[in-house]
Order: sequence, then structure tokens, then C-alpha cells
Amino acid sequence: MKTGSGRAGQQAARRLRRMHDLLAAAYGPQHWWPAATPLEMILGAYLTQNTAWKAVERSLENLRRAEALTVEGIRALSVDALRVLIQPSGFYQRKAPSIKAFVALLDAEFSGSLEAMAQMPSEALRAKLLALPGVGPETADAILLYALGHAVPMADEYLRRIATRHGLVEGEAKIVRYEHLAALTRAAFAEDSAARRTILYNEFHALTVAVGKAHCGRTARCEGCPLECDLALRS
Ligand code: SF4
Repeated sequence: MKTGSGRAGQQAARRLRRMHDLLAAAYGPQHWWPAATPLEMILGAYLTQNTAWKAVERSLENLRRAEALTVEGIRALSVDALRVLIQPSGFYQRKAPSIKAFVALLDAEFSGSLEAMAQMPSEALRAKLLALPGVGPETADAILLYALGHAVPMADEYLRRIATRHGLVEGEAKIVRYEHLAALTRAAFAEDSAARRTILYNEFHALTVAVGKAHCGRTARCEGCPLECDLALRS
């Protein structure tokens, strides 16, 4: 992998940073996450697993109509009632108890307060989230970055495709590990302040989703892509 502190790793980080600048110039501010409150962002992070966002919106609308789009609302629902409301997002048999487990952690360790949870140092909180059922690195980092305002980078399938196709990481897309992509992203924004990094990580993830949807899906449509100029730098 080209994610170390060696020359190749530094060059890959510099190119990734330039990709952010190219995408920001092409697409402008993204204003993510598409949700109104931190809890809505957290629910979205769970519900979007293996599911298109349109389906997530239908589940969130069900919760809104049931007046359950608050910590108190989720707490008051039985797991079965929650399953029914989030059914449009799929995998509701496991997503409902996972969401209830998050609220149980919030109640047990942070008196039900997302603000109190957000105060915990990133590394320790990330470990707590990863210990919950139904939370992998992508969900944990989405919660930390978008709902709780931590300077934590996110990686996803779109970034994996871009990094692999541009030769920023070695190996096939499917075997590039999440933590390597996160490390590469951290290196790309290492010279920014923590406060600025939160904004940059937020925007960069949204921008990679935007270019992924427009150009870099299962098939790469490079012509006219804002990152086309970087392809010549592949080693
Ligand atoms: S579509 Fe082509 S140029 Fe655009 S990000 Fe993907 S590989 Fe790069």
C-alpha cells in the first residue's frame, strides 16, 4: 500500500489532497450530511448500510410521522415497532436491535445526551461504537464525523474505487482495507488544523460520493470527470 510515510505514500497523499481541490472546484460545497439533526444522521448511518438513500428517506419519514425521530422516541419504541417503521431500508431484523443498542449505550454512559457523547475523545469513542452490534468502521466514522463533529476521515466504496483506479493504493479494489484508505485520507489533510480537518473530511467524503455517482461507479466514465487529469500520474 502507498499509505506509509515513505516517498510513495507522501506523493499519494498529495495527489489525494489535490483531488479534493479539483472536486471542490468542480462541484462546490456539498453541505452534508443530508439530515436535519445529529440523531437523524446517526439513524441514517445505520439505515443506509447496503441500502439506497431513497429507501432510508422512507424509513426516516415513517419515524417522523410516528414522532419517533428523537432519542426519546427511539427509546420508547419496542424493537418490533422500530422494525416495522424502518422496513423500507431493508435488513430491518438486524438494524432495529442495532439502533436500540446505540441508544442503550447513550443512556448507560452519556445520560442519553449526544452532546455528552460528542465530548469523548475520538479514539475512545470510536472503540465504543465499533464494539456495538451492526457498527463497522464506515458507520462508526460517519457517526463521529457527521453527527458528533469529530475530525475523523471516512472511506467508502467510492473512495476505494478512485484510489485504486488512480494507483494511490496497490491491489485490487475489493482487497484494499478500510483503515488504509482512512490513513491515506488523514495523510492528505495532515497539515490542516483539527477544526479545519473536520470540515475538509466532511466535504471530501461528500465530493467523492458526488464524483462516484457521476463518473466512477462500477464502470469508470473518465471522459469529462474532474479527476481525469490525475490519471496521467499513475505509476
Ligand atoms: S471516472 Fe476515471 S477519472 Fe474519474 S475518478 Fe474514476 S477513474 Fe478517475
